Amino acid sequence: MSNNKPMPLATEISAPFWEGLKARNLLVQQCNACEQWLFYPRRHCPACLAHDLSWRAVEGGATLYSYTVTRIATLPDFADEMPQKLAVVELDQGVRINTNLVGLGEDEIHIGMRLQPVFAEVDAKGNRLLRFTGLDKDVAALEAPAFEVSEPVAASGPAPVQVALDDAEGLQALVSEQFSDWSNSVLVDQALIDAFAQLSGDDYWIHTDPQKARLSSPFGGTIAHGALVQVLQSRMKLALGFEITGYSTQINYGSDRLRFPAPVPAGARIHARARVKAVQVQARGTQLTLELHTHVLGQERPSVINDLVILYQA
Ligand SMILES: [Zn+2]
Repeated sequence: MSNNKPMPLATEISAPFWEGLKARNLLVQQCNACEQWLFYPRRHCPACLAHDLSWRAVEGGATLYSYTVTRIATLPDFADEMPQKLAVVELDQGVRINTNLVGLGEDEIHIGMRLQPVFAEVDAKGNRLLRFTGLDKDVAALEAPAFEVSEPVAASGPAPVQVALDDAEGLQALVSEQFSDWSNSVLVDQALIDAFAQLSGDDYWIHTDPQKARLSSPFGGTIAHGALVQVLQSRMKLALGFEITGYSTQINYGSDRLRFPAPVPAGARIHARARVKAVQVQARGTQLTLELHTHVLGQERPSVINDLVILYQA
């Protein structure tokens, strides 16, 4: 699994906490002089200022202290996690931790509810982040890495309507203002972006240098090439609801309009939908214009608008 999200940088003081998470242990500092528990990690005790602190494993029993549901991603990298449930959780030791709630519907969350820790595996290096969920939830499922899973494609929908190429009236009837249902979704990760950079020769840092992009890009991280998102339409099975029959060749004739209105951050999932914008019968064949919109999952604004022209020849 690739992960392009900002990851915590362990410092000399905080490293035991992050190392503990990798082993599914929640370690919290306690003052040996006055027994005060403390979080975030520090050099000295905030209660008595003693420097004599120890890391101790705790059970992770906790109560929800406060939370908010964000509907605009806090960083573009998190666009695939919307809505984010950001929480302040109070451990039974009294310390509070900023974290995310996972596996909980919005209607299941309430202040004061009991929570258990989720050591979520977030990359192939074995890094884990501390999240929380309800006591009745399956922690093992929530800790599993989010491997790329191919989704079944509209197998449940009705069989597509067949329209013969010589049925001029039937073809015109396909023209609609109404967009189709969504296609399957496709993960646009950094590995895919890097491969496209190599293939196309466009290795501009805004696509290929996550560290620089995090600091200097207006998007807060790397983004996919518009052209990459455009060609990924081949990986998305459109739920058009019809298929044209009775032709010998089908040619990609280009595009009447191609726009990239919104970025696709690395790590986001995209899906597409389309409508038939026009059908024109011409001497060289029948030209079907498909208005294809590709979006990041959950995003209102399309990332690619492509008025794709397909030429059918009998
Ligand atoms: Zn102390």
